[in-house]
Amino acid sequence: DVRHGTILTLEGINVSFDGFKALTDLNLYIGVGELRCIIGPNGAGKTTMMDVITGKTRPDNGHAYFGETLDLTQMSEVAIAQSGIGRKFQKPTVFEALSVFENLELALKTNKSVWASLRAKLSGAQKDRIDEVLTTIKLDSARQRPAGLLSHGQKQFLEIGMLLVQDPQLLLLDEPVAGMTDAETEFTAELFKSLARKHSLMVVEHDMGFVGSIADHVTVLHQGSVLAEGSLAQVQADERVIEVYLGR
Ligand code: ADP
Repeated sequence: DVRHGTILTLEGINVSFDGFKALTDLNLYIGVGELRCIIGPNGAGKTTMMDVITGKTRPDNGHAYFGETLDLTQMSEVAIAQSGIGRKFQKPTVFEALSVFENLELALKTNKSVWASLRAKLSGAQKDRIDEVLTTIKLDSARQRPAGLLSHGQKQFLEIGMLLVQDPQLLLLDEPVAGMTDAETEFTAELFKSLARKHSLMVVEHDMGFVGSIADHVTVLHQGSVLAEGSLAQVQADERVIEVYLGR
């Protein structure tokens, strides 16, 4: 069984917009606990691929399995999120007027409205989980600070924390280190490496230094399909990849 041991299986995925093919027979397999980087030039189909995985875009055909059995193409966006796939978009979207702790609290109680959630009492286990995540994202000492006063990088960490409190099996992260300082980028690399194995991660990133510092496995997308796969050194030495990036 090809799906044994994979957290995500994309097979023969096609997506077209008004006749334009954004994804063409895309096949991708991500192992349980893997930290996979996805690279590729603008327009390669990276966002569309994540939209298919999260149910935002329905493929024309093909299969998308989460774990061995869940068929993502048959599930709603909400059902997919609740099944354990967390997605972080490029721009952080935190509640600026609420404290760091309250942001995590809300993320833990997503089924209610904002105000109903803040009124509902946290269980001891939920409090412990938030404390644990605060330590993981290094915002322990900023727990009472309004999120609007955090640095750009800290907002990104908070948003990752908002995913982590829900214990997702698979995390999709879109350009997580864009706009970060060097120190924040280094911490992100440490964070992702520490999250892998317990979680599976798919990271779309343009920063090759960062990719090299985290990924054991890189997938290059080009014109809606996989152009190359392997270690960063392997794909960077691939003639087809060089051609796509340097236009030779
Ligand atoms: P990437 O994230 O790798 O830059 P995208 O997945 O955003 O690539 O886009 C792949 C291609 O599909 C691009 O040429 C883009 O213009 C096109 N595309 C994406 N979404 C739509 C849409 N909703 N309607 C029409 N074309 C789209």
